[in-house]
Order: sequence, then structure tokens, then C-alpha cells
Amino acid sequence: MVILFAEKSKPADIAKAKKILEKAEVDFIFQKSGKNSAFVLPASLSQKKIEEIKKLVKVEVIFLNEKQPFLSSLRYIEKRKKIKILNWKWEEDLLFFAVGPCAVENEKVLETIAKTAKKCGAKILRGGSFKPRTSPYSFQGLGEKGLKIHRKICDKFELFMMSEVLDRSDLPLVSSYSDIIQIGSRNMQNFPLLKAAGKLNKPVLLKRNFGSTREEFLLAAEYILSEGNDKVILCERGVRVFNPAAKNVFDPASLQKFKEETWLPVVVDPSHSAGDFRYVGTIAKSAIVAGADGLMIEIHPEPQKAFSDDQQALTLSDFEKLVAELKKICQAVEKRIE
Ligand code: PEP
Ligand code: MN
Repeated sequence: MVILFAEKSKPADIAKAKKILEKAEVDFIFQKSGKNSAFVLPASLSQKKIEEIKKLVKVEVIFLNEKQPFLSSLRYIEKRKKIKILNWKWEEDLLFFAVGPCAVENEKVLETIAKTAKKCGAKILRGGSFKPRTSPYSFQGLGEKGLKIHRKICDKFELFMMSEVLDRSDLPLVSSYSDIIQIGSRNMQNFPLLKAAGKLNKPVLLKRNFGSTREEFLLAAEYILSEGNDKVILCERGVRVFNPAAKNVFDPASLQKFKEETWLPVVVDPSHSAGDFRYVGTIAKSAIVAGADGLMIEIHPEPQKAFSDDQQALTLSDFEKLVAELKKICQAVEKRIE
């Protein structure tokens, strides 16, 4: 059980509450995480004792089960209307639309991609310079050289830059270039990285691990939130199930459930869900209908030559056709791409 203090609680009141608990001989751990202070209490505490403490502790406190997502939960629903991530506002019904290659490869390819992304209404140019690859022999990304190219192209086309961080030690470097930090599926539970990202004053797009539950995903997001960074965007990129047609499975019901559970925006990545360019459109369309707050799509001028995720990248012309279809769907659900 946790007693979580409201952000506005005064240190003096927290100290007073601490004394009361000590006097009542209740075992507790005092936990400070960014702006949040909490007392972690034994789950065995009787209801009577809880009521006593509630009366004694004259500060704004909330009692909850520590294993339940809290800061991301709908009890803070009013936060949804106030979400402003760079120039993207949740209440404007505009989709958070990130487009780009899987990896930054060179300036020429990125420029071609950026031109199409911009023309199609994307505001964010994605692309990894630190790539999480299954095999150590695969292309690992251009590192800082890639970040420099990415920044240059984003500035040229007035797009926001989103780049992935694999390791806490790279966070200062990547965040010195990138407007949005991406934390990928494989790092969803890299807790030191999440905590460090929580100390940044930058939006963080957190991707769901392909083997995690919804609750684990939300609690991972809370590592960032509890450090004081509330600019967190969740990204559904499909989970592994038995014998799917696509590489991973995007579950529209899960998206709806997230909307019922959290005020955080939920973006869908149909590219990594599909793992195959033929299914990207179907997943993207169903994601919009299911209420996604945004999309992230991988494109490439010559997918067969892409350094990574070549199977799932859309060609530039296929992407343009898809965007025209997505715009029609957006109209029906009162959303817009640009
Ligand atoms: C990516 O976005 O390129 C990526 C590596 O995604 P994921 O972490 O979802 O596999
Ligand atoms: Mn990729």
C-alpha cells in the first residue's frame, strides 16, 4: 500500500505525517521520486488503522495498491485536455503523426523521406541513430553522425526530431539533438533509463514491449511520470501471439482499454506491428477507427535497400496513397492528420 502525497504537499506536512506514522509504530519506507513523495506501507495494515492514519495525516494523501498504475490513471483525466507536446495538443483532434525511416542512413535518403513526410502532413521525423538489433552483426546505427544528419534535415523541413535512446549513458547526447526521445520496446523496463528520461524536460515516446501486459506498460510509463516528466506518449507496436498473420499483433480492444485507463496519449506503430509492408495500411486504418491519438509509420524510397526493417517500410508512393485513405477515415472519426 502506498500513501502518495500530492505534488503541492508541503515538506513540513510530510515531515509531520512521518512522525505520526512513527508514533503509531507502523513500518514504512519513505520513497522520494522526483516531485513525488510516498510512504510505502505493509499491505497487511487493517482498514481501521488506515482510517486512523487518514484522519491523523492532515495532508492531501491517496491510498492505493502499489502495483496498480496510478499517475497515469484516469483519476487525472483533466490532464488529457491540457496535454501539449511541442506544438501538438491532444484537444485539437490532430493525430500525432511521426514518419521516417527505421534508421538514419545518409543525408540524401533522409532528405527524400522528409520531403514526403512533410508533404503528407507529418510533424515528426523519426529515425534511429542508435538501433536495437537482434543480431550484433546487423547495422547498429550511425551514432552521433546520424543525429547530426537528422537534426539538419529536421531544421531544413521544420519537422520535430524523434530519436531512440538505448542506454542511459547516451541520453545526454541524444537529447542534445532530439526534440522527442524514443524508448523502444526492448528497453520498456530499463528502469534506470526510464528514471533518467523522467528527469528530462522533453517528451518521451515509450513503446510497449512485445511481451508485456498493459499494466506493466503503464507502470513503466509511471517511472517517467513519477520523476516529474509528464510528457509521456505511449506507443502500441504489437505484441507476440501464437501464429499471427502479421509479425506482431495490434489489438484494437487494448487501445480502447488504454483510453479507459489512462489520460496519456496512445500512438500506434503499424509498421512494427505488421513487420510486412502489405499489412501496414490495414493496421493503420484500424488504429484510427479504434481511437489512436497518433501514428508512427516507417517509409523508405527503396525499401529493399533499407539498412533495417526493409520488409515493413512503405515506398513513398504507397505511403502517399495510404495517407489519402487515412484522411478519409479521419474525417469520419473527427480526427485530422494536418
Ligand atoms: C523502431 O521504432 O525502429 C523500433 C526499433 O521499434 P521497437 O522498439 O518497437 O521494436
Ligand atoms: Mn524499425
